[in-house]
Amino acid sequence: MRHLAHLVEHRADIDSSSATYALQPIDAPRPAAGESTVEVTCATCGRPVELTVLSAAALRRRRARLRAGVVALYLAAALCAIVGVVTFGVIAARDLRSGAAGWTVVGMLFGTIVLGWIAHTYRHEHADEDGLRIAPGSGHSLRPAGDTGYHQYHLDTAGGGE
Ligand SMILES: [Zn+2]
Repeated sequence: MRHLAHLVEHRADIDSSSATYALQPIDAPRPAAGESTVEVTCATCGRPVELTVLSAAALRRRRARLRAGVVALYLAAALCAIVGVVTFGVIAARDLRSGAAGWTVVGMLFGTIVLGWIAHTYRHEHADEDGLRIAPGSGHSLRPAGDTGYHQYHLDTAGGGE
């Protein structure tokens, strides 16, 4: 399970941004079935935070659905790649001058990249799916244990030097 994250500090400058979170383990028992709503008190600010917890069975079903979605996206990307390569083969074999076949190759390669990217992002986003949901607007978030913040430099301005 992810931890409850209280935002301690957030800084955004022109060339970098950073955030620091105070994490606390969530003591929320899983319901026997379906989902339940629990209220957890944030140890940092003392405010109550509402969480939704899925049962183990519901979490298994959700993970299975997410996996199926990712697999379907990767298969669609692979299908685009195959159609693109086959069409390219046909163009080469028949020495076609028609633009339509060429555009099919371009479209399919584009589809492969876009679908592959979506599949990858989707998979990454749901990698830590634990059946926990936090009420929007609670001022808190859920983060993996040990993930107490980030510091990133904005590449577009780094080295720009005015
Ligand atoms: Zn808090």
